[in-house]
Amino acid sequence: MPIVALKEMLDDALNRRYGVGAFNIVNDLTLKAVLEAAEEQRSPVIIQTSIKTVKTTGVDVLFAMWSEMAKKVSVPVCLHLDHCPDRNLISACLAKGWGSVLFDASSLSLDENRRQTIEVVAEARRYGAAVEGEIDSIKTVDEVAASSQATHHHSVEVSLAFIHDTQIDCFAPAIGNAHGVYKETPTLDVQLVSDIVSAHPIPIALHGGTGLTDDQFKDLIGRGCAKVNISTAVKMSYMQSNLAFLKQAESADRWDPLALFKQVEKDVKVMAANYMQVFGSAGRA
Ligand SMILES: [Zn+2]
Repeated sequence: MPIVALKEMLDDALNRRYGVGAFNIVNDLTLKAVLEAAEEQRSPVIIQTSIKTVKTTGVDVLFAMWSEMAKKVSVPVCLHLDHCPDRNLISACLAKGWGSVLFDASSLSLDENRRQTIEVVAEARRYGAAVEGEIDSIKTVDEVAASSQATHHHSVEVSLAFIHDTQIDCFAPAIGNAHGVYKETPTLDVQLVSDIVSAHPIPIALHGGTGLTDDQFKDLIGRGCAKVNISTAVKMSYMQSNLAFLKQAESADRWDPLALFKQVEKDVKVMAANYMQVFGSAGRA
């Protein structure tokens, strides 16, 4: 069975210190491209879906696309719902067959976050699914730029107590990372990752992966970032490939949508395969 439990996948990555790429696909084409990259690279992979993508395509159609494509793949794959504060959508995805969810209650008080995360973990366990949790909201690059204060995050002790109390499978700390296109390479609180993992060996999710250097990835993966999220790079690769092809189509006055799909799929696949090499997940499946 190519579809495996997220916990099993990430525990292996943590033990052997490689990172599993979690790519935010946006449609059938990007889903196919990322799965093909994983197959070619013999790499485990996480297919990640944002709330927007789930709502745009619909839970049923998105899941049908996933299950049809995933069953043809021979490497370990898992379907994950990214940042979701909406408990109803979490329930719908878990019931449909998503293997993992990120319950994003980072806007709630710590106590309320803990209380609800415990509920989500109990719900996910009924389906054999995993839960990623967070206590510090991971901001966008623009939010970080607009804020005068340095990124605040909870202490190691608070993080460890949250992990212990909720029994989450994967933890996403805010370490100075952000979503979007970094204006400059960010300085990250890498020690926080080491401190958490050495006290409680839990796979850490690295958000805002696009734009970090290969050295940063390798350092963080060595410290315990077993799940590495790539979203912005998928969007950029997808849009830029479309743009380049369409410019050519316009100048040649040749309009072949299937040729467009083929080119875009190839470019997205190359992007994903490169990350699998950098994260050390290539050849692990
Ligand atoms: Zn994120």
